[in-house]
Amino acid sequence: MKRIAISLSLLSFLAAVALYSQTTPADSLFPVRGFCIAAPQPAELDDFIKFIRNDLAPRQVNTLILRVDFNYHFTSHPELRDEVALSAADVKKIVATCQALHIRVIPQINLLGHQSWAGKVNNLLRVYPEFDETPYVKMPENYEWPNADGLYCKSYCPLHPGVHKVVFDLVDEICTAFEADAFHAGMDEVFYIGHDSCTRCSGRDKAELFAGEVTVIRNHLAEKGRQLWIWGDRLIDGKTTGMGEWEASFNITYRAVDLIPKDVMICDWHYERADQTPVYFAMKGLQVVTCPWRMPDVAVQQADDMVRFRLQSAPEMKDRFAGLVQTVWSPFGDFLQEYQDAADRSGGEKNTSANCFKALFDHMITLQQP
Ligand SMILES: [Zn+2]
Repeated sequence: MKRIAISLSLLSFLAAVALYSQTTPADSLFPVRGFCIAAPQPAELDDFIKFIRNDLAPRQVNTLILRVDFNYHFTSHPELRDEVALSAADVKKIVATCQALHIRVIPQINLLGHQSWAGKVNNLLRVYPEFDETPYVKMPENYEWPNADGLYCKSYCPLHPGVHKVVFDLVDEICTAFEADAFHAGMDEVFYIGHDSCTRCSGRDKAELFAGEVTVIRNHLAEKGRQLWIWGDRLIDGKTTGMGEWEASFNITYRAVDLIPKDVMICDWHYERADQTPVYFAMKGLQVVTCPWRMPDVAVQQADDMVRFRLQSAPEMKDRFAGLVQTVWSPFGDFLQEYQDAADRSGGEKNTSANCFKALFDHMITLQQP
């Protein structure tokens, strides 16, 4: 009897696992169907929850990358909070909504690069200026590109002995708050790395510095079973591909593609062409998602390409082509306005992130039809 009881409980357990892990047509075509946006301001929270429920879930979004940065009431480092920031209770509401709708939430804090924007230093280097890779570069009153300092965004020094203690406190706290099994570290558009003026980094190989920082972050996350996601641009050779210094690397970091751990998820953003770079990443053994922004025609092509890559690959490669993530680079309130306006009018600008989101996800649902 005991054996039967065990067998029955095993069967019901297996049935539950099968039910829970049942793959849908959407999962087999596009395992990751993602949406990436800045975390809302506290005053926008109710609208954001409604948007998740009424617009993301019905379109079969299953991954939500939320760019949180300092928009959270960190208790480990209150000195790094934004003045107005999400509370733990606010985050719980987002988490509960997403869990009920089977949406995986992946919080993001920009690590390494993007520590300033235009003429403003962001919280980490404002509070801890000693972490600055280029402290001699002063922020201009009127930011212009190009400029004599080559200042796009500030970076922290990955070899500063104190920097990881602080940023990993934030990473751990935000992952716990969002109950996340993955974390997005940004790491795009890093122009300042291995700078000649940094006594720790000067003369070092920039690809090794970049890969070293990816590896340190990845290993920290792996201790708690969490996966690292990053943007892919630093791993592409900008000169040979003609993709330039934003969408790809002009400062030799691209050789890091062969140096980073293979379980890092690459978010491969291309906004104006359906570049075939997912094949490059997959052939390096890395999982990759394609990330469009505001051109519906490009996003639809990228979805078609993702299907083709999966169909035309050996089983070893197929699952590295993980899906797509729609990126939004305007604040949530502005995006929502654009999204609602677009529903009311047939004219107007076609190339917007709201239109791109609709076209991409409508197309992905169409592709599931027999
Ligand atoms: Zn340095």
